[in-house]
Amino acid sequence: MIYLSRKMYFSAAHFYRVEEWSEEQNRRMFGLCSHVHGHGHDYTLDVMVKGELNSKSGIVVNITDIDWVMKSVVRKELDGKFLNKENPFFQTKVPTTENIVSYLWDSLEGKMENCQLYKIRLRENDFLYAEKESSSMVRLTRKYHFSTAHRLHSNQLSDEENLELFGKCNNPYGHGHNYYLEVTVSGEPDPITGMVDNLSTLDQIVDEEIMNRFDHKHLNLDTEEFKDLNPTSENVAVVIWNLLAPRIPKLFKIGLYETEKNYFEYYGPGVY
Ligand SMILES: [Zn+2]
Ligand SMILES: [Zn+2]
Repeated sequence: MIYLSRKMYFSAAHFYRVEEWSEEQNRRMFGLCSHVHGHGHDYTLDVMVKGELNSKSGIVVNITDIDWVMKSVVRKELDGKFLNKENPFFQTKVPTTENIVSYLWDSLEGKMENCQLYKIRLRENDFLYAEKESSSMVRLTRKYHFSTAHRLHSNQLSDEENLELFGKCNNPYGHGHNYYLEVTVSGEPDPITGMVDNLSTLDQIVDEEIMNRFDHKHLNLDTEEFKDLNPTSENVAVVIWNLLAPRIPKLFKIGLYETEKNYFEYYGPGVY
């Protein structure tokens, strides 16, 4: 089986509002997104398909065929539109990133020959994207940033062993990074709000549990969690999972960029 993907961009306007709700209720649930005149995004859409390699042609499927199918949906139904006003589906469904990705899945599935739809990723901006694979679940990923100092040093190793293993990262005074944290939740979008999880609640939990603890701190010196634990990014990812999981039941994955080059993922204990 070979997996391949095609990228496409489109722009659309929308608002998040439930008609039956008062202005106050909409504002409380959706915040700025409820503004009645709307706002908009430049979306990035990745469509991934899978299929068997054709030994004669050397391809699974002509990628221009995939592009044509994507365009026939996106150009006609989403690009350049005000979704709530111009697309019948979003007159009754809130056009959250989760609902748009579900809509795209239903519109594209079964439309491409010689391959199967495998995954759709829709990026609303650099800090928010939704993904869907074959199940009914949608995954929503929110990205956060914090800046933190640390010193890589294990108290179960000798000073010499620490220096040899961690090199300059073992500098006694520490050094620092721009960390980018991805918090992914998984579930079915709520039939009324269109959200897998309330974003402002998610932001508030991450603020309380992670930002307040770690942002602009020295992990080894300022935090309980790393007083006796080596603050490698592996450990940071696990600690973040353990802090968030009790408050975010739909938590699916923690992704952590220590630098642009170093990325770590953790799916919780006993998974994968
Ligand atoms: Zn929006
Ligand atoms: Zn470091």
